Amino acid sequence: MSANLLVLGGTTEATALCRTLSDNAICGVVSYAGRVEKPVQQPLPQRVGGFGGVAGLVAYVRAHGVTHVVDATHPFAAQMSRNAVSACAEAGVPLIALTRAPWQAQSGDRWTHVPDIAGAVSALKRPAARVMLAIGRMHLNDFAAHPQHFYLLRLVDAPDSVLPFPDHAVVQARGPFTVADDLALMRHHKIDLLVSKNAGGAGAAAKIAAARRLGLPVIMIDRPALPDRLEAHTPQEILAWLGHSKPDLAGTDLGV
Ligand code: NAP
Repeated sequence: MSANLLVLGGTTEATALCRTLSDNAICGVVSYAGRVEKPVQQPLPQRVGGFGGVAGLVAYVRAHGVTHVVDATHPFAAQMSRNAVSACAEAGVPLIALTRAPWQAQSGDRWTHVPDIAGAVSALKRPAARVMLAIGRMHLNDFAAHPQHFYLLRLVDAPDSVLPFPDHAVVQARGPFTVADDLALMRHHKIDLLVSKNAGGAGAAAKIAAARRLGLPVIMIDRPALPDRLEAHTPQEILAWLGHSKPDLAGTDLGV
């Protein structure tokens, strides 16, 4: 039986994987949550919208004859990743996650680690500052608790409701970003504090490097915990898992 993949997407890594799958003539569908108006077009067919929890995902997998699921969602898309683990176990379909290592603080970094969004909100209980709030748009309202700050927001789509900040600026842009661009952006807005999720990977790393260069403090939101699952870090490892290429296990941690 030939493979029929479901790729849970929404990341730069998922885009790279879709290209590799297409180049290798592997069938599959990429799934988006529908958070952005125009998702990146992929060389695979795509579907948009939630499945309806674990039961909905099990039903989708069965109805579409999915043979393998690749969870290439963002490390902070914890609900989707938990659902994928439960649904694949229930449907008896193999699951692998395409993940990226978290960023590690380097010399010159001034990070304060917080465990979650609520921790980042608490860390902003301080005198007024010019804050780059690089967390996407889902949890912006939580930061309304600290209206004393100027907030710089970078969003894929223009906000669809009034933002709860008296003093803010919105930059509409889609990554990946360069360090030069992020240095210029931070300088232009006279940013003195960055709030970031520890996304890892290259697509969003420029702001971390820019903050280091400018000596800015960073409130770094640590990743949510996820259940054990098989993990890979490159599209080539996914191919090996599918049996489409010789596994090169040196330096990888294909395992839970
Ligand atoms: P989440 O909290 O884990 O997911 C909430 C619900 O959204 C899921 O239970 C599922 O609904 C639906 N969903 C999420 N990803 C989906 C997908 N790829 N295909 C179909 N349904 C999906 O996720 P989130 O943090 O809101 O992120 C949503 C999407 O944006 C993810 O695909 C992620 O890769 C991407 N993204 C997230 C972030 C971030 O910081 N969180 C950053 C960049 C990109 P049902 O329960 O109804 O199936």
